[in-house]
Amino acid sequence: MREKNSRFRDRSCDFVDRRPWGRTRSTKSHEAARKKRGLLLAQASANLRVLLLLVIFVSVITWSFAARRERLIDSWKPLHYNVSLTLNDQLTEITSATAEITVLSLKGSLSQVDLDFGELAVDSVTVNREPTPFERSPDLLNVKLSKPVPRNTRLVVVVSYHGVPRDGLILTTDKAGKRSAVGDNWPNRVHHWIPCLDHPSAKATVSFTVTAPARNLVVANGRLDRVETVSDTSKRWKYSEGVPIPPYCMIIAAGEFAQVTPSQQEVTPLSYYVPLPDKDVAVEGFAAANPSLKFFSQTVAPYPYEKLALIVGATRFGGMENSSAIVFTSGLFDSRSKSEPISKVFKIREGTVSLVAHEIAHQWFGDSVTESTWSDLWLSEGFATYFAGLVIQRYEGEQAFQKYMKRTADEYLRYEKKTSTPIHDTETENLFKLLNANNYQKGAWVLHMLRSSLGDEAFFRGVRDYYNNHKNSTASTEDLRSALERASGRNLKEFFARWIYGAGHPRYELTWQWKQTRSKEGILTINLNQTQREEAFLMSVPFEIVSSKGVTRKTIRPSGKLTTLQLPLSNRPSAVRLDPDNTVLKEVSVEAAK
Ligand SMILES: [Zn+2]
Repeated sequence: MREKNSRFRDRSCDFVDRRPWGRTRSTKSHEAARKKRGLLLAQASANLRVLLLLVIFVSVITWSFAARRERLIDSWKPLHYNVSLTLNDQLTEITSATAEITVLSLKGSLSQVDLDFGELAVDSVTVNREPTPFERSPDLLNVKLSKPVPRNTRLVVVVSYHGVPRDGLILTTDKAGKRSAVGDNWPNRVHHWIPCLDHPSAKATVSFTVTAPARNLVVANGRLDRVETVSDTSKRWKYSEGVPIPPYCMIIAAGEFAQVTPSQQEVTPLSYYVPLPDKDVAVEGFAAANPSLKFFSQTVAPYPYEKLALIVGATRFGGMENSSAIVFTSGLFDSRSKSEPISKVFKIREGTVSLVAHEIAHQWFGDSVTESTWSDLWLSEGFATYFAGLVIQRYEGEQAFQKYMKRTADEYLRYEKKTSTPIHDTETENLFKLLNANNYQKGAWVLHMLRSSLGDEAFFRGVRDYYNNHKNSTASTEDLRSALERASGRNLKEFFARWIYGAGHPRYELTWQWKQTRSKEGILTINLNQTQREEAFLMSVPFEIVSSKGVTRKTIRPSGKLTTLQLPLSNRPSAVRLDPDNTVLKEVSVEAAK
């Protein structure tokens, strides 16, 4: 997903009451805690200000704390969720729901199924159709099996429940004032409205049956199986997602949407669900969608899902990449300041192009190949950020791509001045704080450096192998490393150690000196010093020597913090430039010694 643009924080007072999920049923203490966290995050976010490039605009960011929990999937795992929800006429509550969860035991003598579940009232629980006792503790629903079951046993757990979810399913009004119900689950908020195993690695197939007012359209993950008329006032919609997806991507969206079908449908059935006032701008606003789908399906692999719906509705993010049903912030198409750069090709804001491409890239990276642990989040966000850049490179050209990567580097460098942690972050407790420039911007640059270093052929072959080996499943950073090593024949251990598991980036100071020697030949001496606190980066860096005889390209391979290189050179150069094509994430100063 991508964040909303933090500069709108300053205007947040205007928007507090309009934030789409503003009327939550928070307790006072929860509200106070949220405000306190908001202050801390406001400070952090000021640092992140420019780094969160995004696009979005209207409502205030309401943060909450999402505690990190690397839930091990070692006692049972979900295989399929069959979720039925009936919404009331005003879409203000779930009047009744059942989640039928097919579970597989992974160990012998399994005696309970501990589901993540929030605060909704539970009416009953059955296992294999037998009423079954359960216990509740904060955020858990422990289903007590009548007798322990052996390993590899399939169970069908059915939880019936109802109420007003505290989070996850956002019940609100859209920009036209119409009621809507939209799922918004990242990172682990789906358990507030669906009992589940709420960890990204617990992927499963899902089907949704949603009974909603007849005036509403309903979208969910996967294929639309049927729409039935239940009564004069309500309809029932059935959707099925046939491949496993992460729980944070399982959503429905119900509301008085305008459904717009663009003429280009080359990759997968594509449709837009937007608030009524956005009906006439949706095709133009989503102009980058079909080209992005085409580019990724040609460059990576066929599109993984049955369709793609782009929804404008309630999300706390700029965009949220739910599998086959992406939700964008309600202000996506609102008018903007004239200063925002406009894409020369798509004729809309550059930020909208990269946001749409980013969320569509997630369908492959994040949704289909899902990060195994929260520490591997860059496999989702770094890929989406870089592959959005590749859409820009493909359709808008090299210059636009270089501008995108430069801005990405600048955003990371600003962030790193305040926070020096590795991309592979095993410690941060608040998952929202993982939405940072390490996972997005630096992750994108890691991929750019790998591509520059391995070459397009090996890099994209490695990425395709990585994707195909892990599609509809999960992957770790080490899985990516081994795929790229196999494709390139290179050992990338040192590269990953420095760039993913280590913090920081090289701060190069290059000094050069040319001296005439007795033989009338000259010698160019280059000292490459790395001044960062952290260890040296040992990757080769290209440089070029500019002289009256032209430009010569060389590389320097550091052996430690200080590396010296001497080259015979008959003329005094006019300049020495480090990394002239900007292929390394770095800070640099170059100086000619006197
Ligand atoms: Zn993202």
